[in-house]
Amino acid sequence: MMYDVVIIGGGPSGLMAANVLENNHINYILLEKNDQLAKKLLLTGGKRCNVTNNLSIHDFIESLNMKHRRFLYHALQRFGPEDIIQFFKERGLGLLLEQDLKYFPETQKSQSVLDALLRDIKKEHLHYNEAVRKLNDDGTHFTVSTDQGIYQAKHVIVATGSKAYPTTGSNGDGIKFAEALGLKTIPFTPAETHVYSEHVKKELLDLQGTTLSHAVLYIQGRKQAYPGGVLFTHFGLSGPSVLHASEVIAEEIVHGPVTVHFNITDFPQNRVIERFEDAVQKNLPILSFLEDMMTKRLAKKILDLLGFVNKKINEYSKKDHQRLLDIILKFQVKIDRVEVIEKAFVNAGGLSVEELDPQSMMVKSMSGLYFVGETTDLQGPIGGFNLTIAFSTGHLAGQSIVKRIINK
Ligand SMILES: Cc1cc2nc3c(=O)[nH]c(=O)nc-3n(C[C@H](O)[C@H](O)[C@H](O)COP(=O)(O)OP(=O)(O)OC[C@H]3O[C@@H](n4cnc5c(N)ncnc54)[C@H](O)[C@@H]3O)c2cc1C
Repeated sequence: MMYDVVIIGGGPSGLMAANVLENNHINYILLEKNDQLAKKLLLTGGKRCNVTNNLSIHDFIESLNMKHRRFLYHALQRFGPEDIIQFFKERGLGLLLEQDLKYFPETQKSQSVLDALLRDIKKEHLHYNEAVRKLNDDGTHFTVSTDQGIYQAKHVIVATGSKAYPTTGSNGDGIKFAEALGLKTIPFTPAETHVYSEHVKKELLDLQGTTLSHAVLYIQGRKQAYPGGVLFTHFGLSGPSVLHASEVIAEEIVHGPVTVHFNITDFPQNRVIERFEDAVQKNLPILSFLEDMMTKRLAKKILDLLGFVNKKINEYSKKDHQRLLDIILKFQVKIDRVEVIEKAFVNAGGLSVEELDPQSMMVKSMSGLYFVGETTDLQGPIGGFNLTIAFSTGHLAGQSIVKRIINK
């Protein structure tokens, strides 16, 4: 039997494409290798699922690390965060805003996001335990082979994800299909991951557990700021700023260790300087100045690192004052490695966007073949960006196929 569409992969991107096809009565099937759909989606946001965020399309795109971030304009304009919120609302699932950025389901359960995605999809369109092994372009149509059967289709959507968290089913198969078809791929690299540091392990281990929730992280030699907060762990650094920056750290670390820096207090720079000037005027003991802005443990550590003792602040020289301010405002940590691809929340890399038409997600050189979601070289930081990209690109591919079929 010839299908209009075969979708490979039942994660968020494949299921969103399926919704579009279903609502337009297209003859399609979705092949999922697991005995259940969207295993990764169920893990997202600590099983609460950060579905999307409240950014404008412009701000969404400008928050991405990727150089080719503007590729996503069309997909997001057609189906962006507001459309995603509306999609779930129409399926009886309200989303609630948290931290003035992230949307979570009102149920606080990722399962309800999956339930909403499945509400309109007919069971007979879903094939479980069907890992696709081969994808051939036969000129007039595509042949999709699994251990259980061979399917022919006029259109194929590859929605197999990356290599992150392979136990969920995403193990890079889509990239193998792309390479076998002669398409350009970018090797997967870890994104959204914590980082390892011998510096922390050897010299800063006593800071383990310290959270700097207002820290803004910078990578030495780069201008971009990564707000969100930093956490000292027993192996290095974690926290939202680190997860966000990790994609760029992974890029740089191939040339050697990477130094990052951040403000070690929860106060902005101008307030730290104000307090410092006040401390100098009153000639406060140096520890009182520090403990006013941070935990006792951290204040003591700063003194140790500087080789200072708790004397009055003016007993130290101007040069020492500068060292003090530098360590507070630009606390440096040397990073040696990032997490491996499999343990990162998200992977950068995948099918090169050079191969894709941004207006449709179709491979420019292979009419009828689409790649969507994390299997493409499109990814973002934490904050609902990756699910938005999966939903948005899956939706665009579905719409583009519907248009092609209707216009025929
Ligand atoms: C722990 C964790 C937490 C996360 N939290 C968030 C969050 O809160 N918000 C956010 O925006 N993002 C989050 N992400 C990222 C987000 O989950 C992914 O970016 C998103 O799931 C990608 O969707 P996808 O459809 O492209 O691929 P996937 O979700 O990886 O789905 C791919 C599907 O394809 C199937 N498949 C693979 N190969 C084959 C094959 N050969 N044949 C048939 N089927 C196949 C897989 O089994 C899988 O079901 C998180 C990721 C992780 C790991």
